[in-house]
Amino acid sequence: MNRFESSGLTDVGQKRENNEDSFLCDRSLGLYMVCDGMGGHQAGEVASRMAVDIVARQLEESHANFADLVKTEDGQQALLSLVETAVERACKEIYQQAAQNPKQRGMGTTLTLLLVLGEKAIMAHVGDSRLYLYRAGAIDQLSHDHTFVATLVQNGVLSPEDAKRHPYANVLTRCLGIQESVLVDTLLFDVLPGDTFMLCSDGLAGALESSEELTMLLDERDVTKLPQTLVDIANVRGGSDNITCVVVRAKRAPADTLLEADFNLTPERQIQLNVMRSLFLCHELRMDGLLRVLNLCDVNAVGAGEMLQKQGERIDYMTVVVKGALREQGPIGARDVGVGEHSGASGLLQAHKSNVDLIAKENTWYLRVNGERFLRLTQRRPSLGVRLLRNLGVELSRELVGAGGD
Ligand code: CA
Repeated sequence: MNRFESSGLTDVGQKRENNEDSFLCDRSLGLYMVCDGMGGHQAGEVASRMAVDIVARQLEESHANFADLVKTEDGQQALLSLVETAVERACKEIYQQAAQNPKQRGMGTTLTLLLVLGEKAIMAHVGDSRLYLYRAGAIDQLSHDHTFVATLVQNGVLSPEDAKRHPYANVLTRCLGIQESVLVDTLLFDVLPGDTFMLCSDGLAGALESSEELTMLLDERDVTKLPQTLVDIANVRGGSDNITCVVVRAKRAPADTLLEADFNLTPERQIQLNVMRSLFLCHELRMDGLLRVLNLCDVNAVGAGEMLQKQGERIDYMTVVVKGALREQGPIGARDVGVGEHSGASGLLQAHKSNVDLIAKENTWYLRVNGERFLRLTQRRPSLGVRLLRNLGVELSRELVGAGGD
Protein backbone atom coordinates (compact mmCIF):
# COMPACT_ATOMS: atom_id res chain seq x y z
CA MET A 1 0.00 0.00 0.00
CA ASN A 2 1.32 3.41 -0.90
CA ARG A 3 0.83 5.63 2.12
CA PHE A 4 1.29 8.84 0.20
CA GLU A 5 -1.18 10.80 -1.86
CA SER A 6 0.11 13.48 -4.17
CA SER A 7 -0.87 15.87 -6.89
CA GLY A 8 0.98 18.49 -8.90
CA LEU A 9 0.20 21.24 -11.39
CA THR A 10 1.99 23.98 -13.27
CA ASP A 11 0.51 27.01 -14.98
CA VAL A 12 2.02 29.74 -17.15
CA GLY A 13 0.18 32.47 -15.21
CA GLN A 14 -1.34 35.67 -16.68
CA LYS A 15 1.69 37.70 -17.78
CA ARG A 16 4.36 35.37 -19.14
CA GLU A 17 4.48 33.76 -22.55
CA ASN A 18 6.50 30.72 -21.52
CA ASN A 19 6.34 28.43 -18.55
CA GLU A 20 9.89 28.00 -17.26
CA ASP A 21 8.85 25.90 -14.24
CA SER A 22 9.12 22.11 -14.26
CA PHE A 23 7.92 19.62 -11.68
CA LEU A 24 7.90 15.92 -10.88
CA CYS A 25 5.39 13.88 -8.93
CA ASP A 26 6.62 10.27 -8.91
CA ARG A 27 4.81 8.27 -6.26
CA SER A 28 6.58 4.99 -7.07
CA LEU A 29 9.96 6.60 -6.33
CA GLY A 30 8.51 8.79 -3.57
CA LEU A 31 10.19 11.66 -5.39
CA TYR A 32 8.75 15.16 -5.77
CA MET A 33 10.43 18.21 -7.27
CA VAL A 34 9.80 21.79 -8.28
CA CYS A 35 12.31 23.68 -10.45
CA ASP A 36 11.99 27.27 -11.59
CA GLY A 37 14.19 28.04 -14.58
CA MET A 38 15.66 31.31 -15.80
CA GLY A 39 17.43 32.42 -18.99
CA GLY A 40 16.58 33.98 -22.37
CA HIS A 41 15.55 32.18 -25.58
CA GLN A 42 13.44 29.68 -23.62
CA ALA A 43 16.61 28.42 -21.92
CA GLY A 44 14.89 28.61 -18.51
CA GLU A 45 12.56 25.82 -19.57
CA VAL A 46 15.52 23.75 -20.71
CA ALA A 47 17.37 24.25 -17.41
CA SER A 48 14.43 23.38 -15.15
CA ARG A 49 13.51 20.31 -17.24
CA MET A 50 17.13 19.13 -17.29
CA ALA A 51 17.37 19.47 -13.50
CA VAL A 52 14.24 17.39 -12.92
CA ASP A 53 15.26 14.72 -15.44
CA ILE A 54 18.88 14.37 -14.35
CA VAL A 55 18.10 14.15 -10.63
CA ALA A 56 15.20 11.71 -11.18
CA ARG A 57 17.29 9.48 -13.44
CA GLN A 58 20.13 9.25 -10.94
CA LEU A 59 17.90 8.56 -7.96
CA GLU A 60 16.02 5.95 -9.94
CA GLU A 61 19.30 4.14 -10.61
CA SER A 62 20.07 3.74 -6.91
CA HIS A 63 16.48 3.49 -5.69
CA ALA A 64 16.61 -0.28 -5.04
CA ASN A 65 18.97 0.34 -2.08
CA PHE A 66 16.98 3.13 -0.44
CA ALA A 67 14.76 0.95 1.76
CA ASP A 68 17.85 -0.65 3.35
CA LEU A 69 19.90 2.53 3.61
CA VAL A 70 17.19 4.46 5.45
CA LYS A 71 17.24 1.95 8.34
CA THR A 72 20.64 2.92 9.71
CA GLU A 73 22.32 6.19 10.60
CA ASP A 74 25.25 5.55 8.23
CA GLY A 75 22.79 4.60 5.52
CA GLN A 76 20.89 7.84 6.05
CA GLN A 77 24.11 9.81 5.64
CA ALA A 78 24.78 7.87 2.45
CA LEU A 79 21.28 8.73 1.21
CA LEU A 80 21.83 12.42 1.89
CA SER A 81 25.09 12.24 -0.08
CA LEU A 82 23.36 10.44 -2.95
CA VAL A 83 20.71 13.14 -3.21
CA GLU A 84 23.29 15.90 -2.89
CA THR A 85 25.45 14.34 -5.59
CA ALA A 86 22.47 14.00 -7.93
CA VAL A 87 21.70 17.72 -7.57
CA GLU A 88 25.37 18.68 -8.04
CA ARG A 89 25.49 16.53 -11.15
CA ALA A 90 22.44 18.32 -12.58
CA CYS A 91 24.12 21.66 -11.86
CA LYS A 92 27.26 20.61 -13.70
CA GLU A 93 25.43 19.24 -16.74
CA ILE A 94 23.29 22.37 -17.10
CA TYR A 95 26.42 24.52 -16.80
CA GLN A 96 28.24 22.48 -19.44
CA GLN A 97 25.33 22.53 -21.86
CA ALA A 98 25.01 26.31 -21.47
CA ALA A 99 28.73 26.71 -22.13
CA GLN A 100 28.34 24.86 -25.44
CA ASN A 101 25.19 26.64 -26.64
CA PRO A 102 25.43 30.42 -26.96
CA LYS A 103 21.62 30.82 -26.83
CA GLN A 104 21.49 29.00 -23.50
CA ARG A 105 24.37 30.87 -21.91
CA GLY A 106 23.51 31.96 -18.38
CA MET A 107 20.58 29.59 -17.95
CA GLY A 108 19.91 28.28 -14.49
CA THR A 109 17.24 26.87 -12.24
CA THR A 110 16.13 26.50 -8.67
CA LEU A 111 15.48 23.03 -7.30
CA THR A 112 13.41 21.95 -4.32
CA LEU A 113 13.13 18.21 -3.79
CA LEU A 114 11.30 15.94 -1.38
CA LEU A 115 12.14 12.23 -1.25
CA VAL A 116 9.85 10.21 1.02
CA LEU A 117 11.03 6.81 2.25
CA GLY A 118 8.45 5.31 4.60
CA GLU A 119 8.71 7.16 7.86
CA LYS A 120 11.67 9.33 6.83
CA ALA A 121 11.94 12.07 4.26
CA ILE A 122 14.78 14.02 2.72
CA MET A 123 14.72 17.58 1.45
CA ALA A 124 17.28 18.96 -0.99
CA HIS A 125 17.09 22.62 -1.85
CA VAL A 126 18.78 25.34 -3.91
CA GLY A 127 17.21 28.70 -4.75
CA ASP A 128 13.88 30.28 -3.82
CA SER A 129 11.33 27.59 -4.58
CA ARG A 130 9.92 26.33 -1.30
CA LEU A 131 9.04 23.31 0.77
CA TYR A 132 6.35 23.74 3.42
CA LEU A 133 5.25 21.23 6.03
CA TYR A 134 1.70 21.36 7.37
CA ARG A 135 1.47 19.28 10.55
CA ALA A 136 -1.04 19.24 13.38
CA GLY A 137 -2.63 22.53 12.38
CA ALA A 138 0.62 24.48 11.97
CA ILE A 139 2.71 25.36 8.93
CA ASP A 140 6.49 25.57 8.71
CA GLN A 141 8.75 26.47 5.82
CA LEU A 142 11.47 23.81 5.80
CA SER A 143 13.52 25.37 3.00
CA HIS A 144 15.33 28.69 3.37
CA ASP A 145 15.36 31.00 0.36
CA HIS A 146 18.77 31.50 -1.20
CA THR A 147 18.15 35.12 -2.08
CA PHE A 148 19.95 38.35 -1.46
CA VAL A 149 17.08 39.71 0.66
CA ALA A 150 16.75 36.50 2.70
CA THR A 151 20.41 36.99 3.68
CA LEU A 152 19.66 40.58 4.67
CA VAL A 153 16.69 39.43 6.78
CA GLN A 154 18.78 36.71 8.42
CA ASN A 155 21.46 39.27 9.29
CA GLY A 156 18.88 41.63 10.77
CA VAL A 157 19.43 44.33 8.11
CA LEU A 158 15.93 44.07 6.63
CA SER A 159 12.54 43.24 8.15
CA PRO A 160 10.57 40.34 6.61
CA GLU A 161 7.84 42.86 5.61
CA ASP A 162 10.28 45.11 3.74
CA ALA A 163 11.90 42.09 2.08
CA LYS A 164 8.80 41.39 -0.05
CA ARG A 165 8.92 44.88 -1.59
CA HIS A 166 12.70 45.08 -1.96
CA PRO A 167 13.88 45.78 -5.53
CA TYR A 168 16.27 42.82 -5.35
CA ALA A 169 13.65 40.50 -3.84
CA ASN A 170 14.17 37.92 -6.59
CA VAL A 171 17.96 37.98 -6.86
CA LEU A 172 19.20 34.48 -6.13
CA THR A 173 22.43 33.79 -4.26
CA ARG A 174 22.45 30.13 -5.28
CA CYS A 175 21.06 28.25 -8.27
CA LEU A 176 21.88 25.32 -10.55
CA GLY A 177 23.74 25.91 -13.80
CA ILE A 178 25.14 29.41 -13.37
CA GLN A 179 28.36 28.00 -12.01
CA GLU A 180 29.81 24.55 -12.37
CA SER A 181 29.09 23.57 -8.77
CA VAL A 182 26.60 24.57 -6.11
CA LEU A 183 26.12 24.22 -2.37
CA VAL A 184 23.01 22.09 -1.70
CA ASP A 185 20.95 22.33 1.50
CA THR A 186 19.77 18.93 2.72
CA LEU A 187 17.62 17.87 5.63
CA LEU A 188 16.48 14.48 6.89
CA PHE A 189 13.40 14.23 9.10
CA ASP A 190 10.57 11.98 10.32
CA VAL A 191 7.27 11.81 8.49
CA LEU A 192 4.16 11.48 10.65
CA PRO A 193 0.72 10.30 9.51
CA GLY A 194 -1.27 13.27 8.25
CA ASP A 195 1.81 15.35 7.34
CA THR A 196 1.12 17.45 4.26
CA PHE A 197 4.01 18.82 2.21
CA MET A 198 3.79 21.54 -0.38
CA LEU A 199 6.53 22.32 -2.88
CA CYS A 200 6.02 25.44 -4.96
CA SER A 201 7.73 27.99 -7.16
CA ASP A 202 7.90 31.67 -6.14
CA GLY A 203 4.99 32.41 -8.48
CA LEU A 204 2.76 30.75 -5.87
CA ALA A 205 4.69 31.61 -2.69
CA GLY A 206 4.72 35.30 -3.65
CA ALA A 207 0.97 35.33 -4.25
CA LEU A 208 0.04 33.92 -0.85
CA GLU A 209 -0.85 36.54 1.71
CA SER A 210 0.13 34.85 4.93
CA SER A 211 1.06 31.56 6.51
CA GLU A 212 -2.42 31.59 8.13
CA GLU A 213 -3.95 31.60 4.67
CA LEU A 214 -1.79 28.68 3.57
CA THR A 215 -2.59 26.80 6.79
CA MET A 216 -6.31 27.07 6.03
CA LEU A 217 -5.83 25.99 2.43
CA LEU A 218 -3.69 22.93 3.22
CA ASP A 219 -6.31 21.73 5.67
CA GLU A 220 -8.35 20.60 2.62
CA ARG A 221 -9.17 16.89 2.81
CA ASP A 222 -8.78 16.15 -0.87
CA VAL A 223 -5.14 16.45 -1.92
CA THR A 224 -6.00 16.15 -5.62
CA LYS A 225 -7.95 19.44 -5.48
CA LEU A 226 -5.24 21.46 -3.79
CA PRO A 227 -2.86 22.35 -6.65
CA GLN A 228 -5.71 23.71 -8.80
CA THR A 229 -7.10 25.73 -5.89
CA LEU A 230 -3.68 27.26 -5.19
CA VAL A 231 -2.90 27.97 -8.85
CA ASP A 232 -6.31 29.68 -9.20
CA ILE A 233 -5.55 31.92 -6.21
CA ALA A 234 -2.22 33.01 -7.72
CA ASN A 235 -3.89 33.70 -11.09
CA VAL A 236 -6.69 35.73 -9.52
CA ARG A 237 -4.02 37.82 -7.78
CA GLY A 238 -2.38 38.75 -11.06
CA GLY A 239 -0.50 35.63 -12.08
CA SER A 240 2.59 37.71 -12.77
CA ASP A 241 4.88 34.68 -12.80
CA ASN A 242 4.70 30.97 -13.64
CA ILE A 243 2.92 29.03 -10.90
CA THR A 244 3.81 25.51 -9.82
CA CYS A 245 2.55 23.49 -6.89
CA VAL A 246 3.06 19.89 -5.72
CA VAL A 247 1.21 18.58 -2.67
CA VAL A 248 2.15 15.32 -0.91
CA ARG A 249 0.34 13.87 2.06
CA ALA A 250 1.14 10.90 4.32
CA LYS A 251 -2.20 9.16 4.79
CA ARG A 252 -3.54 8.64 8.26
CA ALA A 253 -3.80 4.96 9.09
CA PRO A 254 -7.48 4.07 9.56
CA ALA A 255 -8.18 3.34 13.21
CA ASP A 256 -9.80 0.00 12.40
CA THR A 257 -6.89 -1.51 10.48
CA LEU A 258 -3.61 -2.81 11.83
CA LEU A 259 -0.94 -0.16 11.78
CA GLU A 260 2.07 -1.01 9.69
CA ALA A 261 5.01 -1.82 11.91
CA ASP A 262 6.99 1.33 11.28
CA PHE A 263 3.97 3.54 11.94
CA ASN A 264 3.63 2.21 15.49
CA LEU A 265 6.44 4.47 16.56
CA THR A 266 4.96 7.66 15.33
CA PRO A 267 2.97 8.81 18.40
CA GLU A 268 6.26 8.60 20.32
CA ARG A 269 7.97 10.70 17.67
CA GLN A 270 5.33 13.38 17.92
CA ILE A 271 5.80 13.42 21.70
CA GLN A 272 9.59 13.68 21.28
CA LEU A 273 9.16 16.60 18.92
CA ASN A 274 6.82 18.37 21.34
CA VAL A 275 9.26 17.86 24.22
CA MET A 276 12.16 19.20 22.15
CA ARG A 277 10.12 22.17 20.97
CA SER A 278 9.70 23.36 24.57
CA LEU A 279 13.28 22.55 25.64
CA PHE A 280 15.57 25.51 26.44
CA LEU A 281 18.00 24.37 23.73
CA CYS A 282 15.39 24.81 20.99
CA HIS A 283 14.19 28.25 22.05
CA GLU A 284 13.28 30.30 18.94
CA LEU A 285 14.42 27.59 16.57
CA ARG A 286 12.73 27.19 13.22
CA MET A 287 11.24 23.82 12.33
CA ASP A 288 14.20 22.66 10.26
CA GLY A 289 16.56 23.50 13.15
CA LEU A 290 14.35 21.58 15.54
CA LEU A 291 14.40 18.57 13.23
CA ARG A 292 18.19 18.76 12.99
CA VAL A 293 18.48 18.72 16.81
CA LEU A 294 16.07 15.79 17.00
CA ASN A 295 18.41 13.91 14.65
CA LEU A 296 21.13 14.16 17.35
CA CYS A 297 19.05 12.20 19.84
CA ASP A 298 18.80 8.55 20.75
CA VAL A 299 15.66 7.36 22.52
CA ASN A 300 15.96 4.98 25.45
CA ALA A 301 13.63 3.34 27.93
CA VAL A 302 14.42 2.53 31.55
CA GLY A 303 12.41 0.67 34.21
CA ALA A 304 11.40 2.11 37.60
CA GLY A 305 14.32 2.06 40.07
CA GLU A 306 16.99 1.46 37.43
CA MET A 307 20.12 3.60 37.43
CA LEU A 308 21.05 5.09 34.05
CA GLN A 309 24.03 7.16 35.10
CA LYS A 310 26.47 6.82 38.00
CA GLN A 311 28.57 9.43 39.81
CA GLY A 312 32.06 9.49 38.32
CA GLU A 313 30.91 7.99 35.03
CA ARG A 314 32.02 9.80 31.88
CA ILE A 315 29.15 11.65 30.20
CA ASP A 316 29.22 13.39 26.84
CA TYR A 317 25.50 13.94 26.41
CA MET A 318 22.45 15.63 27.87
CA THR A 319 19.45 13.62 29.07
CA VAL A 320 15.89 14.84 28.44
CA VAL A 321 12.81 13.15 29.90
CA VAL A 322 10.09 12.37 27.35
CA LYS A 323 7.77 10.30 29.55
CA GLY A 324 8.01 9.38 33.24
CA ALA A 325 10.50 10.92 35.68
CA LEU A 326 14.13 10.66 36.78
CA ARG A 327 15.87 11.59 40.01
CA GLU A 328 19.30 13.22 40.21
CA GLN A 329 21.17 12.37 43.43
CA GLY A 330 24.49 13.92 44.27
CA PRO A 331 26.65 15.26 47.07
CA ILE A 332 24.68 18.50 47.28
CA GLY A 333 21.22 16.93 47.34
CA ALA A 334 18.57 15.50 45.09
CA ARG A 335 16.32 16.84 42.36
CA ASP A 336 13.50 15.39 40.27
CA VAL A 337 13.71 15.64 36.50
CA GLY A 338 10.21 15.57 34.96
CA VAL A 339 8.86 15.50 31.43
CA GLY A 340 10.55 18.11 29.24
CA GLU A 341 13.28 18.70 31.84
CA HIS A 342 16.91 17.82 31.40
CA SER A 343 20.00 16.67 33.23
CA GLY A 344 23.65 17.35 32.36
CA ALA A 345 23.42 20.25 29.89
CA SER A 346 27.19 20.80 30.18
CA GLY A 347 27.71 17.35 28.66
CA LEU A 348 26.86 18.93 25.32
CA LEU A 349 29.97 21.10 25.44
CA GLN A 350 32.53 18.79 26.97
CA ALA A 351 32.79 15.22 28.18
CA HIS A 352 33.16 15.16 31.96
CA LYS A 353 32.59 12.96 34.98
CA SER A 354 29.01 12.95 36.22
CA ASN A 355 28.61 14.45 39.71
CA VAL A 356 25.20 12.83 40.19
CA ASP A 357 23.48 9.45 40.02
CA LEU A 358 20.51 9.42 37.68
CA ILE A 359 17.76 6.99 38.68
CA ALA A 360 14.35 6.28 37.11
CA LYS A 361 11.53 7.13 39.54
CA GLU A 362 9.09 5.24 37.31
CA ASN A 363 9.15 3.58 33.90
CA THR A 364 10.70 6.33 31.83
CA TRP A 365 11.46 7.24 28.23
CA TYR A 366 14.30 9.63 27.74
CA LEU A 367 16.35 11.20 24.94
CA ARG A 368 20.10 11.47 24.93
CA VAL A 369 21.41 14.42 22.96
CA ASN A 370 24.89 13.45 21.83
CA GLY A 371 27.50 16.12 22.63
CA GLU A 372 29.93 15.26 19.87
CA ARG A 373 27.20 15.33 17.24
CA PHE A 374 25.83 18.53 18.77
CA LEU A 375 29.19 20.30 18.35
CA ARG A 376 29.54 18.98 14.81
CA LEU A 377 26.11 20.42 13.97
CA THR A 378 27.10 23.83 15.37
CA GLN A 379 30.17 23.79 13.12
CA ARG A 380 28.41 22.61 9.99
CA ARG A 381 25.52 25.07 10.38
CA PRO A 382 27.01 28.24 11.89
CA SER A 383 23.84 30.33 12.05
CA LEU A 384 21.90 27.51 13.72
CA GLY A 385 25.02 26.87 15.83
CA VAL A 386 25.08 30.43 17.18
CA ARG A 387 21.45 30.11 18.26
CA LEU A 388 22.01 26.72 19.92
CA LEU A 389 25.17 27.80 21.73
CA ARG A 390 23.46 30.97 22.91
CA ASN A 391 20.51 28.96 24.26
CA LEU A 392 22.95 26.60 25.97
CA GLY A 393 24.94 29.53 27.40
CA VAL A 394 21.82 31.11 28.87
CA GLU A 395 20.81 27.83 30.47
CA LEU A 396 24.27 27.09 31.91
CA SER A 397 24.56 30.57 33.40
CA ARG A 398 21.07 30.20 34.85
CA GLU A 399 22.15 26.92 36.46
CA LEU A 400 25.33 28.57 37.81
CA VAL A 401 23.39 31.43 39.37
CA GLY A 402 20.96 28.89 40.80
CA ALA A 403 23.84 26.88 42.27
CA GLY A 404 25.18 30.10 43.81
CA GLY A 405 22.13 30.07 46.05
CA ASP A 406 20.50 33.30 44.87
CA1 CA B 1 9.44 32.12 -10.88
